[in-house]
Amino acid sequence: KKTRVGLLFGGRSGEHEVSISSARAIARALDSAENREKYDLLPFYIGKDGVWRGEEIARQVLESGTPLQSESLDRQSLWKFPPEAAEIEVWFPILHGPNGEDGTVQGLLALMQVPCVGSGVLGSAAGMDKLIMKDLFAQAGLPQVKYASVARSRVCPKLCDDLEEMLGYPCFVKPANLGSSVGIAKARSRAELEAALSSAATYDSRIIVEAGVQAREVECAVLGNDDPKASTLGEITFESDFYDYETKYTEGLAQLLIPAPVPDSVRDRIQEIAVQAFQAINGAGLARVDFFYVESTGEILLNEINTLPGFTATSMYPRLWDASGVSFPELVDRLIQLALARLTR
Ligand code: ADP
Ligand code: MG
Ligand code: MG
Repeated sequence: KKTRVGLLFGGRSGEHEVSISSARAIARALDSAENREKYDLLPFYIGKDGVWRGEEIARQVLESGTPLQSESLDRQSLWKFPPEAAEIEVWFPILHGPNGEDGTVQGLLALMQVPCVGSGVLGSAAGMDKLIMKDLFAQAGLPQVKYASVARSRVCPKLCDDLEEMLGYPCFVKPANLGSSVGIAKARSRAELEAALSSAATYDSRIIVEAGVQAREVECAVLGNDDPKASTLGEITFESDFYDYETKYTEGLAQLLIPAPVPDSVRDRIQEIAVQAFQAINGAGLARVDFFYVESTGEILLNEINTLPGFTATSMYPRLWDASGVSFPELVDRLIQLALARLTR
């Protein structure tokens, strides 16, 4: 008997379109020769209005690759799930950013008492919140840049003095709970620091400020539950000042190098830290762990973890596993099996 997989995509975040692309790639993998006999795909689409749509509309969005235009203003429909949802045996949420990657949807699916691909409520929430994430990494003794936590209500000249003294310039100012570089600014002076803090404050009440490093950006994919494995490494190169929103999502502005051209000892250390980072936040299933590699000193710094990384056919996460000997369809199969294994524990 086939297992019914609920592919949940779209969502109320800036990464709605990326989610559609990821879902298309996963739907194709579920329909591949390897997986067709094993799984039955039932897609669900969360529109930009937050309303869940069932199979019929979800399939249209998957086929066209474009978001649904109609907006439902009926708040009650936020609480109505398509009836097919009751038939799902395992959920595969492929939603990025707030309300998808941060534990909210994971909590809802846990209430449905159905296993779900990826981290649970705690791991997802911890991975989304840069302050909590970095505090957990610090507890685990993992190397990172210096950072400070700032409550937006407490921003004042004295606090800016302290930040300057502790972190210097350039520094990076980020809202605690976002992704895709949204709301992130690099500050090179007091004026830029103040502007960056007020801008970050429009996104979140908690802000993180970090010492800036000049480094290469290397990423590692992690797969597993209790005994997670690390993939081959990938490097991201780009011409822009940092890996900002435009560089991430404009075709051709960033290049992926797989495997990352780093010494074997650096690779081994990064893979080790990637697994420790995954365990530090209570990750499950999958995560992409991102690093700074300071070539001149050989220093390795953990930047962040992403518990639901981009999953399009050309995204780093599946490409890293492909380079490590796990094809896209096999990766999808393994993730579903890892979710099912978690239920029976
Ligand atoms: P997001 O979760 O939105 O991807 P990141 O913390 O990864 O946020 O920051 C986005 C990008 O900003 C990084 O990929 C890197 O290019 C740059 N960046 C962030 N923090 C630093 C830092 N401390 N030093 C240097 N560059 C940084
Ligand atoms: Mg991130
Ligand atoms: Mg990042």
